[in-house]
Amino acid sequence: MLAELGDEAKLLAGGQSLIPLMKLRFANPQHLVDLNFIPGASYIQEDGATLKFGALTRHAEIENSKIAAKIPILHDCAAGIADVQVRNRGTIGGSLAEADPSGDWAAVLMTLATEVRCLGTNGERTVPLPDFIQDAYSTALAHDELLSEVSVKMPPKGSGGAYIAFKRSAPVYPTASAAVQVVMDGDTCKDAAISLGCVGLMAIKAKEAEAALRGKPIDRKTIAAALEASREAADPQTDMRGSADYKRQLVGALVKQAIEIAVRRARGEQVEVSHLYA
Ligand SMILES: Cc1cc2nc3c(=O)[nH]c(=O)nc-3n(C[C@H](O)[C@H](O)[C@H](O)COP(=O)(O)OP(=O)(O)OC[C@H]3O[C@@H](n4cnc5c(N)ncnc54)[C@H](O)[C@@H]3O)c2cc1C
Repeated sequence: MLAELGDEAKLLAGGQSLIPLMKLRFANPQHLVDLNFIPGASYIQEDGATLKFGALTRHAEIENSKIAAKIPILHDCAAGIADVQVRNRGTIGGSLAEADPSGDWAAVLMTLATEVRCLGTNGERTVPLPDFIQDAYSTALAHDELLSEVSVKMPPKGSGGAYIAFKRSAPVYPTASAAVQVVMDGDTCKDAAISLGCVGLMAIKAKEAEAALRGKPIDRKTIAAALEASREAADPQTDMRGSADYKRQLVGALVKQAIEIAVRRARGEQVEVSHLYA
């Protein structure tokens, strides 16, 4: 249908980004192609060492899924998106396809080995997430393609992760957020992935901050170095959520907390994570 209807057609998933944009007249598609009529587009499956999510899987389904909880950072993310109403309608596929710089899923999934499946009139292709999201509101999808599945590799043994966002209230996007995934070997951090949300046009992979942890013991000194490197990596804009300087300070504090919880989880502790509300 997308190929038939051309540029004037848009896909509708949960409608939690598209419908508000249409109400504001920022989007005015001539045709809506509703994915909600496609059976079997919503699922959470464990396939060997990979978790697979159908594009139409709602945030609330991921929040309540025992399979998704095997990667705790996925639960942190799903449970913290907006409020119950938005989580009951919004989908993981719609969130990644929208590529909103303030969206939670991209920041979290960038810390994991994530691929998205794109389906179009020319067949199927699999794209690693870092290549899929190309800019703010811009992805690798062609007009006649849809995102059909998100797949995430289970992190190796000794892994732990945490996602923390700072918000003014539940039904708004975060001011800043931090996603951290570590692999521990005793007190040494074997590997680390750190991604920053809402402080740039896309989720930012804080590579220097990752390097500050990798191969080192996690202590006050290495955490301070990672926090400082994260502030350097952030590229925030001043807006109604706060000044650029404020967001830079904030994201460092969130990275610090997320590292501490990720390490505790890697050691087998059950730690509940909740977003921070102003
Ligand atoms: C009040 C409110 C607060 C919110 N707060 C947050 C928040 O804190 N964090 C957060 O991450 N999100 C937040 N959201 C957004 C929410 O998570 C959306 O669900 C999500 O961004 C888009 O998913 P959707 O399924 O609703 O997509 P839709 O709105 O239906 O579609 C969004 C865009 O993606 C395209 N699209 C949808 N599905 C596909 C697909 N499978 N393949 C290709 N293109 C597709 C559509 O054509 C459209 O352009 C909020 C929304 C609202 C209304």
